[in-house]
Amino acid sequence: MAKSKRGSTLNEEEKRPLNKENIKKLTGIFSFIKPYKGYFIVGLFFLLISSTTLLGFPYVTGKLVDVAQGNAEGIFNDINTVAMILIGILAVQSIFSFFRVYLFAQVSERAMADMRTGLYSKLMGLPMTFYDKKRIGELVSRITTDIALLQDTFSVTLAEFIRQIATLIIGSIIIFYATPELSLFMLATFPVLVISAMVFGKFIRKLSKKTQDELASANIIVEETLQSINIVKAFTSELIEVLRYKKSMGRVVKVALKSATYRGAFISFIIFAMFGGIVAVMWYGANLVQAGEMSVGDLLSFVLYTTFIGGSIAGLGDLYGQIQKAIGASERVMEILDEEGEQEIGDKAIERISLYGDIQFNGIGFSYPTRKDIHVLENLAFGVKAGEKVALVGHSGAGKSTVIQLLLRFYPVDKGEILVDGRNINQYQLSSYRQNIGIVPQEIILFGGTIRENIAYGKPGATEEEILEAAEKANAWLFIKDFPEKMDTLVGERGVKLSGGQRQRIAIARAILKNPTILILDEATSSLDAESESYVQEALDELMKNRTTIIIAHRLATIRKVNKIYVLKEGKIAESGTHEELINTVDGTYNNLVKLQLQD
Ligand code: ADP
Repeated sequence: MAKSKRGSTLNEEEKRPLNKENIKKLTGIFSFIKPYKGYFIVGLFFLLISSTTLLGFPYVTGKLVDVAQGNAEGIFNDINTVAMILIGILAVQSIFSFFRVYLFAQVSERAMADMRTGLYSKLMGLPMTFYDKKRIGELVSRITTDIALLQDTFSVTLAEFIRQIATLIIGSIIIFYATPELSLFMLATFPVLVISAMVFGKFIRKLSKKTQDELASANIIVEETLQSINIVKAFTSELIEVLRYKKSMGRVVKVALKSATYRGAFISFIIFAMFGGIVAVMWYGANLVQAGEMSVGDLLSFVLYTTFIGGSIAGLGDLYGQIQKAIGASERVMEILDEEGEQEIGDKAIERISLYGDIQFNGIGFSYPTRKDIHVLENLAFGVKAGEKVALVGHSGAGKSTVIQLLLRFYPVDKGEILVDGRNINQYQLSSYRQNIGIVPQEIILFGGTIRENIAYGKPGATEEEILEAAEKANAWLFIKDFPEKMDTLVGERGVKLSGGQRQRIAIARAILKNPTILILDEATSSLDAESESYVQEALDELMKNRTTIIIAHRLATIRKVNKIYVLKEGKIAESGTHEELINTVDGTYNNLVKLQLQD
């Protein structure tokens, strides 16, 4: 994948000059390489040896021709010896190349695995405020694409870069030393050709980028419509979509053909001008040979060296682009690694604390960090005694979920304090604190895996009996036992689809297994069928036993049994009391909410 990206034009934001400052940005990434620097240094050494020995190849090949023509000198005294030397060079070169590739792979594979794990555990430890700002797709591509790019850089690009530079420098020194006249002649012609080829090439890459862009927008049509195929069909817009796609394809072909025209011209240019240049150099060289100023072998070496050098010049352009991209990738990865986490995810065991579950919100003021202008909560105060059950009600957007997010310490409060068991919640160790809170969310997400794994999510390492007991208490066993594979039934994207009520019962089993002191029930907005409803209600009653419970109630019918109802309005508690008390408050918010719901 990374390979296909080579040679494509860089976006503006990917263009980074290779200056000191930018190279420095790679240093954060180097810290991941550090543990494997032994491998890296040996790899570099092998790389230099293999590149320099290979540079002996043209020289000795030239000598082979000279010896054939009867000009033996030094160790190059007969054809067989020279051929053996050539084979020797190849052998050294290939052995060293093997180790070079292997060693660099050791470094890049291990370092990148470390980096991925590091990045992932960083992500796990980042606060909700971070996730509010980022798109998930973007984060996934940090861990996949960006690191793949860096891996490529450390396994291939960097090595190639060094090799090409070494080839360029050493190769040039050799030809200028061995055949100065011809080298000067070449120097006068070639750079002009190389530069014009580079400019032309850049233009062509721009065009092919345009083709890719067109293709991408055509792909969006496919993606969107396949994702919402039900809508397309319901609106019978199949034909419209096909025509839209066809039109888009037409544009792709048009741009692609335009680029092909220039590419054709480029290729003819290369064939004519570049090879023309080679002919000119060879013509000059042949003249030198004829005049007896140069041997045939020297001419051959010269031609081979220039091929090497030419190749490395061509390669460097691409590699330069690759390194620029890598700097961009490392910048993006480092940006995440430098974020401040809410906690370190480490091997350190989580200290267990057992709370009673006395909750007190004192004068809470809060705005979401991404929406500082909107004061979601203002001077909010309420309390829940250990073991009590309360409901939070209020119209949608009143701030009910926000209260829960604050209790979970997803966000820091701006004003006031939240106390649990009389202590500011910020004083507890984060994970130990959260372990005391269980939640049955509105939208129940089951992870891909078995039902057993999904229930055990509430308590890693739970025994089979514990899991079964939780499932029974949650009324989940009632339906699980009817699946042929029972607890081993796969759920999630690739498994069976469970109904809303079934998912809720799994979530309840999860919470029962977790056995938290404080329980949060974010009631599902959509109602279930009567049978499911009664199973779920029964399971919830079981779950709520002996726990401080906060219910976010959307359907008021279900909360008559709670000790107290808090009505949220404009960021404050507007009313509180039992259902009976509140329903009798004429023109009260609660009363109005109930009336509204009865109308539905
Ligand atoms: P409720 O649960 O009562 O429906 P919420 O607590 O979800 O209300 O929302 C209260 C207010 O906070 C709303 O105006 C909502 O738009 C805003 N809000 C909720 N979550 C976020 C968030 N992550 N970032 C910014 N604003 C949010």
